[in-house]
Amino acid sequence: MAITEFSLIARYFAQVGAVRNDVVLGVGDDAALLTPPPRHDLAVAVSTLVEGPDFPAGTAPGRLAYQALAVALSHLSAAASEPAWLTLTLCMTKANEDWLKAFSDCLDALAKGLNIRLVGGDTTEGPLRLTLHAHGFVPTGQAPEPHLIRPGDLVYVTGTLGNGELAMLAGQNRRQLPDEHIGGLHARLQQLEQRIARGLALRGLASGAFSRVDGLAKGLSQLLQPARSGASLVAESLPLSPTLARNLQGADGCITAILAVRDPELCFTVPPAGQAELESRFAELAEGCTCIGAIDERPGLRCLLTDGARLEIVDVPG
Ligand code: ADP
Ligand code: MG
Repeated sequence: MAITEFSLIARYFAQVGAVRNDVVLGVGDDAALLTPPPRHDLAVAVSTLVEGPDFPAGTAPGRLAYQALAVALSHLSAAASEPAWLTLTLCMTKANEDWLKAFSDCLDALAKGLNIRLVGGDTTEGPLRLTLHAHGFVPTGQAPEPHLIRPGDLVYVTGTLGNGELAMLAGQNRRQLPDEHIGGLHARLQQLEQRIARGLALRGLASGAFSRVDGLAKGLSQLLQPARSGASLVAESLPLSPTLARNLQGADGCITAILAVRDPELCFTVPPAGQAELESRFAELAEGCTCIGAIDERPGLRCLLTDGARLEIVDVPG
């Protein structure tokens, strides 16, 4: 007998994640009722995965849960926020209980480990796609905001550049995160925890920040566009992923790293006055951050190569 929408939600989504006392009403009610802490801003970030463009049919449900969460949390980290709640929109052709169980078990384990709660969502019929909203908090005034960016601010990245971008090497446009990014549940959880911690380290210090899911070049261009400023990066300082470094050197490696997408890591800017404090915060974490250049007044994105040549990555006419 086909499972009804009501029992499907009760079975697979009613108890996902940690119990939190700031959830007054959660899954089961028309609207979730939530209590944000006083004097905090609410950060909201979304990640959508569509079968076809974003992942091939037959992708393991646990992998999708991880991937959707990793992307949404990466965006939330760019607001230096601590995640608290999730909402999920799930669209699937017909209820497949094995799929649902594997998906919700994985989401539950990750959400419990991160102390976050699934508080609502919607379930509809159609081609497989999922949208995960992550909600979190940051003390008011402590999140990076692009209007704070000034020429001279230093540009940093977390993690390495190009891990998510084996696609370019393979000549494909789209590809999932490589296996080395995934690992078992414990490794996934640890990776998410560490990324959240890196976002929290930006509080009160970073002027701007973005998730590199859409790539360093695109993110930097978007971040700097309102102020009509630019950035100069230094090729030598780019932390290329080991795979990228093995396969491409020189200007090719540099361009690939800068254009690479699907790295759920951060890029952020920090005024020179905050550099020492920022680096000491990161020294306490499992993984540091790397200064790759600085903001300058001239629009566009440039990279200084090791031979002294200057590569214009995104050239904005003056
Ligand atoms: P119906 O479509 O039958 O009216 P709703 O869409 O109102 O039901 O969903 C019933 C409850 O279940 C709501 O509290 C909603 O937030 C929750 N819900 C529905 N789908 C999901 C889902 N995929 N994940 C989490 N909560 C869900
Ligand atoms: Mg519904």
